[in-house]
Amino acid sequence: MSHLLDNSDSLQVQAYWQSMEDPQKFWMQQALNLIDWETRPTKALTTMTPETLHKAEWFPDGRLNVCYNAIDRHVLDGRGSQVAVVYDSPVTGTIRKITYNELLQEVKCFATVLKKYGVGKGDIVLLYMAMVPQTLVVMLACARLGAIHSVVFGGFAPAELAKRISDCQPKVVVSNTCGLESKTKVVAYKPLLDEAFEIAGYRPRVTIILQREQLRIQLDLLKNEHCWDLEMAEAAPLSGSVGCETVDSNHPLYMLYTSGTTGTPKGIVRPCGPHAVALLYAQRYMYGLQPGETIFTFSDFGWTFGNSYTAYGPLLNGSTTVLFEGKPVGTPDAGQLYRVFSEHRVSVFLCAPTVVVILRRTDPDGLFRAKYDLTHMKGLFLAGERCTPEIHRWWISTITGRKISPDNTTVYCGTDLVNVISDHWWQTESGSPMTGICIGYSSRGTDVVPIKFGSAGLILPGCDLCVIRVKEELDEGDCIDENPEYAESDEVGNIVVRLPLPPGFITTLWKDEKRFFTSYFRKYKGFYDTGDTGTIDSEGYVHILSRTDDVIKVAAHRLSTSSIEEVIFNHKAIGECCVVSCPDPIKGRVPVVFAALRGNGHLEDDVRRELIKLARSKVGPIVSLYPNNVVFVDRLPKTRSGKILRKMIRMMIDAVHDAKTENLPVFADRCPVGAPATIEDMAVKLETWQTIVKLYSV
Ligand code: AMP
Repeated sequence: MSHLLDNSDSLQVQAYWQSMEDPQKFWMQQALNLIDWETRPTKALTTMTPETLHKAEWFPDGRLNVCYNAIDRHVLDGRGSQVAVVYDSPVTGTIRKITYNELLQEVKCFATVLKKYGVGKGDIVLLYMAMVPQTLVVMLACARLGAIHSVVFGGFAPAELAKRISDCQPKVVVSNTCGLESKTKVVAYKPLLDEAFEIAGYRPRVTIILQREQLRIQLDLLKNEHCWDLEMAEAAPLSGSVGCETVDSNHPLYMLYTSGTTGTPKGIVRPCGPHAVALLYAQRYMYGLQPGETIFTFSDFGWTFGNSYTAYGPLLNGSTTVLFEGKPVGTPDAGQLYRVFSEHRVSVFLCAPTVVVILRRTDPDGLFRAKYDLTHMKGLFLAGERCTPEIHRWWISTITGRKISPDNTTVYCGTDLVNVISDHWWQTESGSPMTGICIGYSSRGTDVVPIKFGSAGLILPGCDLCVIRVKEELDEGDCIDENPEYAESDEVGNIVVRLPLPPGFITTLWKDEKRFFTSYFRKYKGFYDTGDTGTIDSEGYVHILSRTDDVIKVAAHRLSTSSIEEVIFNHKAIGECCVVSCPDPIKGRVPVVFAALRGNGHLEDDVRRELIKLARSKVGPIVSLYPNNVVFVDRLPKTRSGKILRKMIRMMIDAVHDAKTENLPVFADRCPVGAPATIEDMAVKLETWQTIVKLYSV
């Protein structure tokens, strides 16, 4: 049995069972009810063999345009004067409201600009932009033309940006002159972009730059650099005729890079029709958001959260989306999020637990919260990393004013101010949540299933999630489990999704079908491997524990330890190194470098400083590498075949941290973490343990 969701009569659980009984019927109903198709699909799914099961294509004969569904149809339905986008930017002192009519006009205009430069169906447009409405305009203009956009997070340094540019070779790049960390801290984007082109050895046909008031720069026409405002002004009179290009359901809507287990980012390809269906389904039923209501998803467009629920989800739903250009604290204070909730009557809010951690640290008594009326809010959802029960309880108490005792392991939020404040779990690959507590199935908060602290909710309808037993002998490396076995309830295992994957999931990796298969489907035949470990308990609640691979979440941002390792290894003083991660009270996890120096004569403090600088400049400030976390050792633990035992090191760090948190003793001569049978030298294991004990137990 893959799950135990059988003890509840809630509407969410009933929908789950319906979706499991006949997934094709379930998703076909959603597709026909939620989306306007140019050609309505007659089939839910392509016919597949066991060998092609991972290549599921939903609604294969349907044809549509996502931009039409996100804007035009709402204008035709009389929502033209409704606000589609609220741009709230405390760092520039701006609040701008854009109606669906205005958004349509701007999108048509930019689509005209793109067309002028030869962008059409299937062409790639790369965006390197701040949280400004123009970013959304470019994304939608691409969708209108059937072009494929790829938004790269502005916090990435040129080397990381260059990897993405070389991989997708965009026809056009759109950027802005700067991002703003605060009112005074301006980050110039153009030099970063130029350096990335240099490193990639590739220049797009055209670069379009939005001149922001905070930084105006000289553009070089000889390098085909064009100014946003001039292009838009020229295109305006011609834009009336830019229609929506109808595409096949499985034509890519966008491509989003994410970190995998190697230094090369993965280009997640998202199909138009299935993604639109999955987003709208989650918008209505999971988040309970109605057309005309407002959602605020606190995420950059460069992350999946931003693509799915700042951009497409709310607009497909005819709702209003808030773009916030600021920080939880410091722009200028810890009251900004509550102000936005109140001022724009936000119904639903999504953020990473890090945001709550930062708020709690700065304003533990919720004094800023107390200034605002939040009675209109329906749901606050957390995702991106594990949310500890302590933080979750604080968030519920702060928002609702109700004190939650640490003895409460579950809680109904329905009788409170909001219907739910819950954790939910998803990945860039899934594009929308796989677990959670739905509020859209119920007309009253009291029908919503209870929250369980430490859990990311129930398995969502349409997603056949299971836990596979971990087999010690297959634990290190890329072993294939020929006979996967289901774990018992509460047994920690690898979380997988039974194939075929539901609509909206990744359909391939950009130009890398082979890596697509080996990354996700090779280990467990017939299942998608999420790369997360966890449990499903006896009541069907899913608990996500950690990654099984080398991916880390730093302040909910996904980074590959390999890409940091690559950078560290390039320093001339480094003989060998590995990067793992350790818990951090604010950011969830942060990287830790273990390095053996090459030869003598290096001053450790100097090398440490240089490594930190290097990591910041090559990966970006988001790398969060701190001096304490650069550790010099004589040798690293390895297998007999020379593989560094990263997982063992990480487990040792976690063991010391766990003991510290629980006030338990740690013994330098007794390592509680086992070693694989293939370890080369047990003495190195003990040395490593002692280094870690010394480092973290003080
Ligand atoms: P990303 O692709 O950046 O969205 O990262 C996906 C990964 O973030 C997942 O595979 C998990 O490891 C982690 N993650 C996302 N949401 C949660 C959650 N609610 N609880 C625990 N981990 C999460």
